Amino acid sequence: MNKNYIDSLIDDIVYANWILFNEGVLDAFGHISARNPENRDTFFLARNMAPGLVTRDDILEFDLEGNVVGNDQRKVYLERYIHSEIYKYREDVDAIVHSHSKSVLPFSVVRSQPLRPMCHMSGFIGMQVPVFEIREVAGESTNMLITNGNLGRSLTNVLGSHTLVLMRGHGSTVVAPSLKQAVYRAIYVEVNAQLQIDASRLGPVEFLSKGEALATQETNEGQVERPWNLWKAIAINAQKSWQSTEEG
Ligand SMILES: [Zn+2]
Repeated sequence: MNKNYIDSLIDDIVYANWILFNEGVLDAFGHISARNPENRDTFFLARNMAPGLVTRDDILEFDLEGNVVGNDQRKVYLERYIHSEIYKYREDVDAIVHSHSKSVLPFSVVRSQPLRPMCHMSGFIGMQVPVFEIREVAGESTNMLITNGNLGRSLTNVLGSHTLVLMRGHGSTVVAPSLKQAVYRAIYVEVNAQLQIDASRLGPVEFLSKGEALATQETNEGQVERPWNLWKAIAINAQKSWQSTEEG
């Protein structure tokens, strides 16, 4: 694997930050990481900053204990342990998005309405989505954040072999075997959640069967380049319009 490959992965992490901000999955909070393909014991993640403002220079490399590789002293995300612990225990995961997206969060607090795949774009959600309850591992009075390796490990245990885990009163974490799939899943879990809320107002919802979820996932996730190219073009244009506003 050559330097250009890592360079283009770093570029894609920057685009992923912009895309997820632009598509309403991340706001000033939340983050996306990708495992280092040349050293599977490290991963790339931005320093502590709003995703919509991330540039190449802001991407840092971390080890699986959540420490920065090298001497960079800039402030890092409090919840980097979400990423370090999942990469430690899930060999199949090469990219992770942690978000507080608005339509998914309600499903973390209303246990009687589980999040389930109801449209053909979101079969990856699977038949059952686990919910992480921080009170079970850290008591009644935490700040609800995953601020150390032990909490990261507990979250990873609840995630198990699933593609996402809801975090009660906090948000969700989505995992995938590639950066582009992670972006796709983070966007479409938010879309599915909004559709599920809308549809359930009309009446009882008919969800995808297990077979439909698997078959649609296989078909759609083979086509992630198409939405990625669109989302990337929109995000780059949005960045340009910000810059021209600043210059003007
Ligand atoms: Zn969070």
